[in-house]
Amino acid sequence: MPESEPPLRLIADEQLGRLSRWLKIIGQDVVYRNDWADEELLQQARDEGRIILTRDSHLPEKAAGLPLYLVRENYPAGQLREVVEHFQDRIRIEVFSRCVECNVPLRDVPKPEVEGRVPPFVWKTQTEYRACPQCGKIFWSATHRERVEVQLRDILGELYRSALDGEEK
Ligand SMILES: [Zn+2]
Repeated sequence: MPESEPPLRLIADEQLGRLSRWLKIIGQDVVYRNDWADEELLQQARDEGRIILTRDSHLPEKAAGLPLYLVRENYPAGQLREVVEHFQDRIRIEVFSRCVECNVPLRDVPKPEVEGRVPPFVWKTQTEYRACPQCGKIFWSATHRERVEVQLRDILGELYRSALDGEEK
């Protein structure tokens, strides 16, 4: 990713819940609500300088020149591939680096801090933890993460490797 490109900031219409979740899983900044009125979505896009992702072919007229990408694929996996391909110069994949509920970056937490806050079998087997600074949810690398990475390779193919962050390549 070129140094000059600012991080991608997105906002998705109410039809793109599952796509939004996938994008957050790969670390992208995506605002999503399932009860947007068009005006609210456009206002927030304008206020926060976000690119709009939409399935609504009428939204471009209403968006009055705001940056917008009309998603063509019908299903979440295809939509994810389409969006990652379209924005590939600006997307750097970091799996589970962001809370999928709160859309904020997770922070690393030292193991002693999570004692008693994760199930005992997790405490015994896992050494690395991250937490959401907003909702407090704790995440750990485990089979879930591996499963998601397998799915991502399957969905994104070559795009996955080329958009991966740093040392994981
Ligand atoms: Zn959270």
